[in-house]
Amino acid sequence: MAETIKTALITGGSRGIGYGIAEALIRDGIYVAITSRSQQNADEAALALNKIRAGHALAIESDVRNLESQEKAVQTVLDQWGRLDYLIANAGVGHFAPIHELSAELWQETIDINLTGVFFSAKASIAALTESKGYFINIASLAGTNFFANGTAYNASKFGLVGFSQAMMLDVRNAGVKVTTIMPGSVATEFNNHEPSDKDAWKIQPEDIGQIVSDLIKMPARTLPSKIEVRPTTPK
Ligand code: NDP
Repeated sequence: MAETIKTALITGGSRGIGYGIAEALIRDGIYVAITSRSQQNADEAALALNKIRAGHALAIESDVRNLESQEKAVQTVLDQWGRLDYLIANAGVGHFAPIHELSAELWQETIDINLTGVFFSAKASIAALTESKGYFINIASLAGTNFFANGTAYNASKFGLVGFSQAMMLDVRNAGVKVTTIMPGSVATEFNNHEPSDKDAWKIQPEDIGQIVSDLIKMPARTLPSKIEVRPTTPK
């Protein structure tokens, strides 16, 4: 009998947390498609990921702000591997400014990518995840529960996402689809044009979030850790 494979689609897997999750899942033997707004960025990441396990990474150009583009990404996974087991809604941006300086454009981009983009990820994947009794994992943020100055757009997007994600969990769990909201604190990535350096050693590392996702999908089917806060142990 043919071995059943498992597959994942990670939005925004070209670098940072999404890439760390892709590495962890590929090490687990899962077939992983990553998306980016740029085919080149996605291709470069997939090239590196395929060195872990040849043929396990697939690069897809897809902008989470576009529902049709996300539907095509899901269809590409189904065409390639025949099933979708895990959707990791990770793509996100951070624009931080006091309210009197925050432009309408940056407000809109933050909401469109961080909140509406996840709704579109859910719309695009829920039929396939229902079929596979799969898992939808959101990368929200501690900014979805802790507000701060300069955070109006980011806080609004992540508070919204935490509410969205938990309501979605209630909608789909009886159909056998799990939903988990992961809420990290500071992770060492290039988020918000940050340049990673040795000074980031105290932060959560992308592979640590990868380990959490890897552990979540190994939980018994009966048990659902629905919301997870993750902090650096010794914040600087
Ligand atoms: P990075 O900036 O390092 O990576 C962001 C990823 O999202 C890239 O792969 C980028 O790809 C992709 N992306 C951005 N916009 C879009 C879009 N419209 N469509 C598709 N892909 C897109 O950030 P992180 O890895 O740090 O962030 C990942 C998630 O984690 C975000 O949701 C962020 O809010 C959240 N988070 C981050 C924390 C941190 O401290 N770093 C803490 C808590 C949560 P490309 O540019 O190639 O299109």
